[in-house]
Amino acid sequence: MAMQAPVSITDKWKDATYGSHILYLEGHNDINNGQISFRTEEGDIWIRRAFMGWEETTTEDFIRISMDGEKLEGSGVVPAEWPLHTELYRMRQDINCLIHSHPPNAMVFSATELPLRAITHDATPIMNTARFTLTTNTVTNVGVAREVAQAMSNSKTMLLKNHGIVAVGKSIPETICWAIALENACRLQLLAESAGVPYKWTEGDEIKVKSKIIFGRTAIQEYWAYWCRKVNRSRNRGEVG
Ligand SMILES: [Zn+2]
Repeated sequence: MAMQAPVSITDKWKDATYGSHILYLEGHNDINNGQISFRTEEGDIWIRRAFMGWEETTTEDFIRISMDGEKLEGSGVVPAEWPLHTELYRMRQDINCLIHSHPPNAMVFSATELPLRAITHDATPIMNTARFTLTTNTVTNVGVAREVAQAMSNSKTMLLKNHGIVAVGKSIPETICWAIALENACRLQLLAESAGVPYKWTEGDEIKVKSKIIFGRTAIQEYWAYWCRKVNRSRNRGEVG
């Protein structure tokens, strides 16, 4: 088998910029947008700088940080929620990307005690979404971040009460998928709840079967490619970038 060339850091910045623009187009906006970070093959952690809209992100907006949140490379302000990232990377060797955002439907859903149900296909891969209820505050403290990481030890997604979401994955495209799936699932379940009539959801083995088909490796690559094309069209119109 031929050796695969390592993905260069330039490609990672490019993907994380696409990821930021995708989050904008898929409704993850908030005045305090959140962060996307990634870990390289060398173990370096890069995080999007603070205080900018998802849609404004460029490939120059990533800062390399130490495991203590110290700025090592790049310019701009290191986001105050850096401990959320470092503690999850410390605990989860299986992940290389983390998204923390404040999308409206997931925020409203996180304020309820409704169990998350697989009403639509989107929700099937995130049925083990963890819930964090210790605080509604931003995660700027290493101790709280450790609690988040602990609560997320077996999940790829989390709802932070009255705060937002966390999604983790092996790659940037995969993590984008989980972040979007969670916000969509919350939006559609809130819609079902508001219909005022009983509703049904996918259960048992069917969840696994559907998840495998709809979010298999090839499907994730194709969804990512589609979202990137969508971003390109928006870039051409001058809406992002
Ligand atoms: Zn936050």
